[in-house]
Amino acid sequence: MIYHNSVKLAEYFYCYVWQGRGNNCNAILWPSVLRGERPHVLVDPGHVRNELGEPCFDSLTQAMERDGFKMEDIGLVIGTHSHPDHIEATELVVEKSGALFTLSREEDEFYRTMGKMFFQAFGGKPPQVNPFFYLKEGDLSLGAKNDKVAVKVLFTPGHSPGSISLYLEEDKILISGDVVFAGSIGRTDFPGGSSSLLRKSIDELSQLDVEYLVPGHSTETGSIIAGKDKVRHNFYTVKMFF
Ligand SMILES: [Zn+2]
Repeated sequence: MIYHNSVKLAEYFYCYVWQGRGNNCNAILWPSVLRGERPHVLVDPGHVRNELGEPCFDSLTQAMERDGFKMEDIGLVIGTHSHPDHIEATELVVEKSGALFTLSREEDEFYRTMGKMFFQAFGGKPPQVNPFFYLKEGDLSLGAKNDKVAVKVLFTPGHSPGSISLYLEEDKILISGDVVFAGSIGRTDFPGGSSSLLRKSIDELSQLDVEYLVPGHSTETGSIIAGKDKVRHNFYTVKMFF
């Protein structure tokens, strides 16, 4: 059973929108963008299995296969932040592919001290993976000479101390992790959360020129937020009400 809806937003951009009943995040795939034998980049692989027992990782694997992409061909996993519903399955991806893993230094430090406890609290197992490098703010080079996706890393703390968002300027796509959703914002009542930092991060993201807002979770069916006006309206709404 496949619970992910595949949405292709650009030549090298697939979004796997979670459609199950329980909690899991949306995953992003940039296929064939790295040099070498494992050319795909995966952002936020999500849960292995969620609180309702839905097989999140198997679903993502099958959804990708339906599009012609294999989990074995992932070369890099990027975590927007270290919560279980975003990176629990990282260990399985690495087992299958030998992929490298990256997140921000701030988030890694948080994960090693407090963040790991979320996994026990939610009945999961913290993934045993070490970041190969830390994400730095600014352009992320994916190793190919002429990068097929030009990605900017933005530090957007608040939901978690080292949360990042990813901005693809050319395609005007913003991957916002758990910073901002459709009509809602990320929780700040977890350890490591800060509502004042989150507000500042949302302010910064709202200045960008965005055609597609891809949040870490979809609050309405199947949704990413498409269209400049809708994105602008969404930022306006969340700034008004939160
Ligand atoms: Zn989160």
